[in-house]
Amino acid sequence: PLLAAQAHRLEGQTMGTTWQVLWATTGPSQGQAVRVAVQDELDLVVAQMSTWLAGSDVDRFNRAAAGTLHTVPEAMAAVLDAALWMAHVSDGAFNPAAGALVNLWGFGPGPRYTDPGFEPPSEGAVLGALALKDWRALAWNATTREARQPGAVLLDFSAIAKGYAVDRVSRRLAGMGLAHHLVEVGGELRGSGLRPGGQPWWVDLESPPVASGPSALQTTRVALHSMAVATSGDYRRVYTRDGVRWPHTIDPRNGRPLSNGLASVSVLHAECMWADAWSTALTVLGRDEGLALATAHGIAALFVQRGADGRLAETLTPAMKELAA
Ligand code: ADP
Ligand code: MG
Ligand code: MG
Repeated sequence: PLLAAQAHRLEGQTMGTTWQVLWATTGPSQGQAVRVAVQDELDLVVAQMSTWLAGSDVDRFNRAAAGTLHTVPEAMAAVLDAALWMAHVSDGAFNPAAGALVNLWGFGPGPRYTDPGFEPPSEGAVLGALALKDWRALAWNATTREARQPGAVLLDFSAIAKGYAVDRVSRRLAGMGLAHHLVEVGGELRGSGLRPGGQPWWVDLESPPVASGPSALQTTRVALHSMAVATSGDYRRVYTRDGVRWPHTIDPRNGRPLSNGLASVSVLHAECMWADAWSTALTVLGRDEGLALATAHGIAALFVQRGADGRLAETLTPAMKELAA
């Protein structure tokens, strides 16, 4: 067991959200080196994959003329490869080429959904953006790392890049000899080794806020022992117009924000990138279809569904039942 008295902690901001790192060591804390290392990894992910940063690799891809072939840098290639696999397996429920739809609904860079005057797009505008979501047209070649801009297709890695960033930070810390740590970016987490005192990093799964009365849900607790967890929810980035909720996850099949009643999906996976991608894919698929796909792939997932009466009900896949306390 690790007998360090206390965990060290650092925090900061990235990707429009916050990050934090906790670590335990019986040696020197290396606080300054940890901050530099974390910033370095986060900067790399942002420089390649942020649609919010003008001149990032993804931004340059998105602005390129139709037919242009792009050689994608290594980190972005790893994420694009995973994102396209997720798109394939979920039959397009997860779609890294959904950027035009995301922008249309006000959730893109310089988000407009928070503007009081922002109005949901017209039917015609939705049809227009739906025509620009063909991830297969990227003609991705993982060997040469080349992707083709089909014309006006906007890549968006927001549903997978935070998880990937968590993995990078975790691997970097391990490489510095800090095997015992917990990394978080915007609610996505990965734990390695043990906490001070020798316990694994126990975390409570994020659960949706309940409007009033006692929460209908018991807290689900998991040990992140070389394990990551990511959550997609309909309550974090959302706006309400005329009593209708528009969450920031879009169903690329109809081009509209989700309205399937899922409040959140949490996924446990050894790699946070996969936990992040799966949690988004399953959220779009909805509880029944999502449950079937996750179970078929042995994925540990927890679904929280809003009932008509506003009550929350949860469902766990068999793999999640094994892992949740
Ligand atoms: P969170 O940020 O709450 O963890 P997600 O991981 O599900 O949520 O990512 C949601 C973001 O991904 C959206 O803000 C948008 O940029 C993008 N996105 C929206 N719909 C999809 C989709 N169907 N597939 C892939 N990315 C999406
Ligand atoms: Mg996600
Ligand atoms: Mg998430």
